[in-house]
Amino acid sequence: NAFQNTEFGESRIRLNMEGALTARDRVGVQDFVLLDSYTSEVAFLDNLRKRFRENLIYTYIGTLLVSVNPYKDLDIYTHKQMELYMGVNFFELPPHIYALADNAYRVMCTEFNNHFILISGESGAGKTEASKKILQYYAVTCPTTQELQAVRDCLLLSNPVLEAFGNAKTLRNDNSSRFGKYMDIQFNYKGEPVGGHIISYLLEKSRVVHQNHGERNFHIFYQLLEGGEEELLRWLGLEQNPQNYNYLIQGQCAKVSSVNDKSDWRTVRKAFSVIDFEENVLEHLFGIVASILHLGNIQYDEDNHGHAIIPNDSSLRWISKLLGVPLSLLQEALLHRKIEAKSEEVLSPLNLDLAFYARDALAKAIYGRTFTWLVNKINESLANQDPSRKTVIGLLDIYGFEVFDINSFEQFCINYCNEKLQQLLIELTLKSEQEEYEMEGIEWEPIQYFNNKIICDVIEEKHKGIISILDEECLRRGEATDLTFLKKLEDKLGNHPHILTHKFADQKIRKSMDLEDFKLFHYAGEVTYCVIGFLDKNNDLLYRNLKEVMCVARNQIIKQCFLAAELDSKKLPQTVVTQFKNSLSGLIEILKSKEPSYVRCIKPNDAKQPGRFDDVLIRHQIKYLGLMEHLRVRRAGFAYRRKYETFLQRYKPLCPDTWPHWHGPVIKGVEILVKHIGYKPEDYKLGRNKIFIRYAKTLFATEDAYEICK
Ligand code: ADP
Ligand code: MG
Repeated sequence: NAFQNTEFGESRIRLNMEGALTARDRVGVQDFVLLDSYTSEVAFLDNLRKRFRENLIYTYIGTLLVSVNPYKDLDIYTHKQMELYMGVNFFELPPHIYALADNAYRVMCTEFNNHFILISGESGAGKTEASKKILQYYAVTCPTTQELQAVRDCLLLSNPVLEAFGNAKTLRNDNSSRFGKYMDIQFNYKGEPVGGHIISYLLEKSRVVHQNHGERNFHIFYQLLEGGEEELLRWLGLEQNPQNYNYLIQGQCAKVSSVNDKSDWRTVRKAFSVIDFEENVLEHLFGIVASILHLGNIQYDEDNHGHAIIPNDSSLRWISKLLGVPLSLLQEALLHRKIEAKSEEVLSPLNLDLAFYARDALAKAIYGRTFTWLVNKINESLANQDPSRKTVIGLLDIYGFEVFDINSFEQFCINYCNEKLQQLLIELTLKSEQEEYEMEGIEWEPIQYFNNKIICDVIEEKHKGIISILDEECLRRGEATDLTFLKKLEDKLGNHPHILTHKFADQKIRKSMDLEDFKLFHYAGEVTYCVIGFLDKNNDLLYRNLKEVMCVARNQIIKQCFLAAELDSKKLPQTVVTQFKNSLSGLIEILKSKEPSYVRCIKPNDAKQPGRFDDVLIRHQIKYLGLMEHLRVRRAGFAYRRKYETFLQRYKPLCPDTWPHWHGPVIKGVEILVKHIGYKPEDYKLGRNKIFIRYAKTLFATEDAYEICK
């Protein structure tokens, strides 16, 4: 990773301020590498706190950016600020997310390679905001043409649309991303953004039909009710008050003070028109959103055989109209299950529980598939026709580590995902860094760090990991239950050091666990999962006859989401967690092929309040984010390294007497070159294939000299 320095910018800041010592005392150091006692966690925390008090939310560890959520609007994201950071060396200005974005962009332009920016941190730490800031920075600062304006707008405006459908208020965050998002921004050789592509990961569909206390359904439902024009609502058969809808009242907080559904609705509407969604497509889309609310309002009664009936068909009528499906078919499908017996198909009536289950499954399926459709449709708008070679910067903004009082299948998937990303980060930074020194024969004192591979393994190992056990139980339909899953888990993994089940817990801990619970010791902390619902959610079963009805729908979007081919397929569909596992491993492959930059986000308090710096909470995050280890590796390491060939190729003009006549081995060439330009022995080391340079200021000087002599 290119220009990495520390001392350089710091000295400027010192020059700029009266009395170097007092300034430093007040605002701390802008790179943790500069701390006098860089192994002390107390010093680390102090520095972070000092800066936070001064509204300096960004601090570097080398090129890694640490960000603390200020929970208030700061005046540091203006166009003027953006211009300030354009093309400036990383450490010349105070740390900023723009500096990181700019650095990735510059390196991409000069080296013509692919990059990604990994933004991590727990829920509410500021990941999504960070990714938006980066996108805005590129939208404003990258060169563009008249024709490419549309691409730029699409890139920017895909955000409010996806947030409306994929974000919701949770206890941790009023605008929590309930899906993972990886977005490639594609650039042509001139560095102009020419297109993009979004991959979404596992949307938390269960939220459509159920929300915990203090949480909401996805924003779009409230936006539509609050902002939708009277005529539109009438056409959709909706009333404005969210209290009228079962799917919106379970969390008992339809209104959120920090969210303005009405103005968000206007933003979303405008965004839709820019991304090129036609009005009739939108009608179908809102028809789906409304249908889900109507579905939630279907009530069942029991007839005297114990079969479910629908006493009042007014909701059904609306769904039938909006999705374009025959009312009788829909009603039949919601009340029966088709069973294939021998060569016959029989309709078996559902009891009350199963009828509710079928209804909710349909709502989740419709919403989930519509979300996928939405991402695909946005991708069509982002696709570029330019066939020339392109480079990309990928932005990864994925749900952060999450712990609630009750944690279910969704938290398990989310936290598993965070384990995988932590593993990637370890491999790319701590591990590879140390292995590289070893490989290159550079002397080095190894640094200890916690490798979470053991947790990834216990979750995903073939045949014996948690996922395998869960899938196995899902296959034993009819016989298995959530509790048999837990039992198997206990039998097979009960004595694993990162898992705790009831049987193996000591008296005191056992008291804090329910019989349906197991604990997993994640790298970021301990989480107690309640297994109730794991099997259902993992199976994600939608009765066949409901699928059949959807396949005949006239609603254009539903039509594209439910294809008849699915009904003919004999293959057993993959379980949710296995699909997720596969898509995550795909993601890791995508990331591994690119140059990384990192943003580590920290949440300063649990109250979502500005100005509050909760030491305990933050120390915990510093720990599990591995920031101390990262700092030690950075501090002991070399900021800059390049293959001998590359280094020589670029800088040999600095030594014109020797070149172009010189033809020895590259390592000798580099030795001659650096001596000629005056590197001191402590400034660099020569490995087997690469030169390692300790401070980037050395490199900056070389680069400046090169610019002059070029
Ligand atoms: P995450 O994606 O990590 O769960 P978000 O990015 O959604 O968290 O941030 C949660 C909330 O914190 C935002 O809605 C916003 O109110 C606040 N926030 C986050 N980052 C910033 C920032 N840089 N400046 C101001 N407020 C922020
Ligand atoms: Mg988010």
